[in-house]
Amino acid sequence: MKRTKVVATIGPASSPKDVLKQMVQEGVDVVRLNFSHGAHEVHNEVIKTIREIDVELGTHTAILADLQGPKLRVGEVENNGVDLVAGKQLKITTKEMVGTAEKVFTNYEDFAKDVKPGESVLLDDGKLVLRIASTNGKDEVVCDIIHGGVLSSKKGINLPNTKISLPCLTPKDLVDLEFALEQNVDWIGLSFVRSARDIIELKHIIKDKEKHARVIAKIEKPEAMDEIDDIILETDAVMVARGDLGVEVPMQNVPLIQKSIIQKCISNSKPVIVATQMMETMITNITPTRAEVNDVANAMLDGADAVMLSGETSVGKHPVEVIKAMVKIIDEIERHDHIYYHEEPPAESNEDRFVSDSICYNACRLAKRVEAKAIVTMTFSGYTGFKVSSQRPRARTFVFTGNRKILTLMNLVWGVKAFYYDKMVSTDHTIADIKYILKKQGYLQEDDFVINIASMPISEQGMTNMLKLSKA
Ligand code: PGA
Ligand code: MN
Repeated sequence: MKRTKVVATIGPASSPKDVLKQMVQEGVDVVRLNFSHGAHEVHNEVIKTIREIDVELGTHTAILADLQGPKLRVGEVENNGVDLVAGKQLKITTKEMVGTAEKVFTNYEDFAKDVKPGESVLLDDGKLVLRIASTNGKDEVVCDIIHGGVLSSKKGINLPNTKISLPCLTPKDLVDLEFALEQNVDWIGLSFVRSARDIIELKHIIKDKEKHARVIAKIEKPEAMDEIDDIILETDAVMVARGDLGVEVPMQNVPLIQKSIIQKCISNSKPVIVATQMMETMITNITPTRAEVNDVANAMLDGADAVMLSGETSVGKHPVEVIKAMVKIIDEIERHDHIYYHEEPPAESNEDRFVSDSICYNACRLAKRVEAKAIVTMTFSGYTGFKVSSQRPRARTFVFTGNRKILTLMNLVWGVKAFYYDKMVSTDHTIADIKYILKKQGYLQEDDFVINIASMPISEQGMTNMLKLSKA
């Protein structure tokens, strides 16, 4: 049982049931539906398939619905590719047309209002670079071509220096969100987050619809880095979205940003995913490059909860092999000691969660001292599961819960395995019963030390206030 979780984006290469099932068997913990692509019927089919696989395998695969957000794009261009030549100019218009080497369309209505001369326009993940020469403030912008190349249809536009007036949730996102919430997905990915307010707004919608989905803030804009502490406070989890981030900020800044975001997430007990191009060459090749192997390992050494695959599993040639390759790296790194145990500062006595935080903190310290094999939390909200996990104990973290909604949700979280359990008779009986289940399933051996944390009296489902150390 590995601790580091694997997120796999589903697409044509991975949606057939036999492929998806093998991927889960090889170690996929979270499936990501990318709402930038694919119709609702297709996503619906994947959700149905994954629920079937979970029943067949006894797994609790988490589902992440990743909203496109205000992703800017050019429209169709003639011959499906036009050659932009450095030194020449390109007009960008918001009036629909088929693009040429002189003029292309963008779907971003306020483009001409929002940009200022001198700002950069990056096309196709930064492969082509333009600079704004002038704007008519209405519907047309003239750009100087700095680095040219072939521009094909529908390529992305990044505006790293522009204050974009678009909301974080576009009309398309609102429709996709409604669909995802109806399907009771576990996680909603919010793209191009710029401020903590974006998260609060999304959470309001989820709450109004009385859904349990939690929010992943995708960090891919410089504005998000300016407000990173507030964003981490408001969100439930974070994704280091290195694809767009590496276009929006100088790409050499990404490695240290990754480390710093992960550190902050761990300190705040918020799961963090490292995403994009981790095993990129396996889209076509059967083995990763050495640099890619190092990248996955280094994300783990930085402390990530999860590593993510995009094109590798959605459109790649080897959707199962890439999981196997990634899990081999994970297994090897997890055999080494230095990824374990981050001791968080003790809770302050005026915090509302002082009692449960102190129990989680001491459970992890004690687990280290006695080399416990398991920390078992009983939780309805999942709170203590997140708290214990964030200290990265070597002991496995088992979450026993009567709340079916968090079973799959917790599958993203480092080191956590969740079980459905609703027989809350008495504390003594429950602890004995849980130990029996874990032994029967092979997670514990006879003389292993186990730490149980729970709330007493157990039937009240209050805050965690009890810690017990015993042998299995
Ligand atoms: P995307 O997000 O794949 O939705 O663009 C991830 C990234 O930008 O890295
Ligand atoms: Mn992105």
